[in-house]
This record gives sequence, C-alpha cells and structure tokens, in this order.
Amino acid sequence: MVWALSEPVDVRRATAFLAHEWTHATLTRDAPASGAGDPKNRWLEDGMCERVAVEVEAILHPRESPTTIASRSSELSANSRDLPERVDLLAFGTTSATTLFGTLAAQCEAGRLYGYAFALAFWLAADLSADELRAVFADLKSKTLPEVARAVAPAAFRSLSVPLACAREVLAGERRCTH
Ligand SMILES: [Zn+2]
Repeated sequence: MVWALSEPVDVRRATAFLAHEWTHATLTRDAPASGAGDPKNRWLEDGMCERVAVEVEAILHPRESPTTIASRSSELSANSRDLPERVDLLAFGTTSATTLFGTLAAQCEAGRLYGYAFALAFWLAADLSADELRAVFADLKSKTLPEVARAVAPAAFRSLSVPLACAREVLAGERRCTH
C-alpha cells in the first residue's frame, strides 16, 4: 500500500489522513468478518476511520478542535442546497460508485462528498469513549459492521439512517442528538 502526501504538508491533516487510512488497513487485515472493503459497508467503514482520526487528533492536540470534524462540517455547509434530510448509510453505500473511475467521478460531484460528514456524525453521536471504541474494534473480529453499528446507534437515528439536523448538531460539537 502506498500513500502520497502533497506539498506543503499540513502535519495535522496528514496525521488525520494516515489514521483514517491505517484504520481501513487494520480492519481489512484484522477483522475480515466485519465486511470491511464491502462497498455496501463503505460509509459505516469510512465513518469509523474518520472517528479514529478524530481520536488520534484529540490525543496529539488535546487543546485544539479536530481538523477532521471541521472539514466534514464545512462539507455540509458547502453542499447545503443539495443535502437530503436523512441519509441511510447502508443504502447510500449500495448506490455509491464502486469502481476506481466511478469513485473519482463521484468525488468530483460536490453532492457526493457529504457521505463522509454523515458517516462521521453517526459514529460521533454514538458517543463512545476510547475504551468503548476499542471494544467496538474487538467486536468487529466476529460481527459485521452493520451489526456493531446498529448496537451503538443513537435512538434518533432509526438504525443506520442519519438525520441531517443531527449530523449538523453533532459536527458542531453537540454529541446528543435530539431529532
Ligand atoms: Zn476511507
């Protein structure tokens, strides 16, 4: 696996990026039963990778707000006109492009970028401590991502479906979703 960082390197962003990609690699290697790499689990997995990146940023820069949350929050603002009221992470995974060129094309459509924001909001709203997050990883050795995600999903999410209002609140720093 090869990762490339463009210049000039923003160390905080680079660290968050590596934490995200490392989480994908770890899930694929250590938790094959989780369904990591399966396109339908894409947003559950990417959200988990973002959640770990936030955790790593919090450890390395405890007094600063994580750049990962800030950038996902700004994606919601940038796409504010096209956003759906609610995103079902599993259904969105099955409709997202799964080929390399399809993925690159989707990245160029601004509307598709919001998947990361909803997915990160899902795992942030689950409000897991670092120990609980470790327990989730342990569970993924024998359970699938959807099974584990359903077990920690906030009631307001109706399973794996994330309301836009909640995503906005959670990314703004409010962990308890009231919608
Ligand atoms: Zn990813």
